[in-house]
Amino acid sequence: MHKHIVLLPGDGIGPEVVSAAKRILDAVAGRLNLTLTYEEHLIGGCAMDAQGTALSQDTLHACQRADAVLLGAVGGPKWDDPAAPVRPEQGLLALRKGLGVFANLRPVRVYPTLVDASPLRAEKLQGVDLLVVRELTGGLYFGQPKGRFEENGRVRAVDTLEYWDYEIERILDLSFQLAQSRRGKLTLVDKANVLESSRLWRQIATDMASRYPQVTLETVLVDTAAMRLVSQPAAFDVIVTENMFGDILTDEAAVLSGSMGLLPSASLGKATPGLYEPIHGSAPDIAGQGIANPLGTILSVAMMLRYSFQLEQGARAVEQAVERALAEGCRTRDLGGSLTTAEMTDAVLQRLAF
Ligand code: ATP
Ligand code: MG
Repeated sequence: MHKHIVLLPGDGIGPEVVSAAKRILDAVAGRLNLTLTYEEHLIGGCAMDAQGTALSQDTLHACQRADAVLLGAVGGPKWDDPAAPVRPEQGLLALRKGLGVFANLRPVRVYPTLVDASPLRAEKLQGVDLLVVRELTGGLYFGQPKGRFEENGRVRAVDTLEYWDYEIERILDLSFQLAQSRRGKLTLVDKANVLESSRLWRQIATDMASRYPQVTLETVLVDTAAMRLVSQPAAFDVIVTENMFGDILTDEAAVLSGSMGLLPSASLGKATPGLYEPIHGSAPDIAGQGIANPLGTILSVAMMLRYSFQLEQGARAVEQAVERALAEGCRTRDLGGSLTTAEMTDAVLQRLAF
């Protein structure tokens, strides 16, 4: 099997963690009869400096033609002026939109050896292994009308929470499938007591549930869900929710694991390459020092193997190697240790087993 991957290292620690994850990809490919080719492009601040835009058309087209895209991070103090006409993050938004990736998957696991890093007590964290699926291309962030309107000397600011039935159906379908491949529980998070769009999500989810008899569907209001994420996090399997609720809940869920540097993500669409990236940012405070934690990007590569290449065996091998490295005490600085990015990557490579 041959797969072509576009690498978008981006800014800050992005290049460091992407090159670490590429070493893992190459090692897995060597074991699984997978031939990989790569091409590298600029995105974010470095693209603004070199090309005058945070995402060039050439780069977007290369991504659209690829089998998968691996991204590091974008942004940094150099490009932080909020009044600037172009910002690094626009590159990322344009990429998501250009690829049509409507579902953002963020798995959150708590590693037994890292419970001390979490703000929650160890007994609450036992068995936490959840997946948040956030709708990424609709809702309040895109609904029209949107903007400021002046009327009779007053200013009115408008955002519109809008969803079409097909936008809801495609992400719910994916979420049911994901729940089916995991522990069989799907939680729809909404605000159906006040929002019409939430009532449509509920109706479609309830109708769809009969097609997935192995999956138990529950619906939870977002305020209750926010509370349960910290009071009983282990009770969740797959959570699916609209764009803004997902934005908030994914950050809340990330805190459970205790470290930003550990968490991966995948953004998926239909018949489009998946986009894989760690959830952390460009970490300008430690960029260029070779000490960034590469595990979030390495685990993103595991998601690529699983969702874009259907290589579950390779995905599990990477995840288990990370688990073993952590269980055996390997730690980068953010986890209270002293391993460099390269040493942590070596530790994972040494534990890759098929
Ligand atoms: P952004 O706006 O790009 O999300 P941010 O400032 O919100 O940036 P990060 O860039 O992720 O968030 O950095 C937050 C803190 O976490 C910083 O102190 C950074 O050094 C640390 N951090 C983030 N990612 C890693 C990593 N992979 N390894 C070690 N430390 C990290
Ligand atoms: Mg941030």
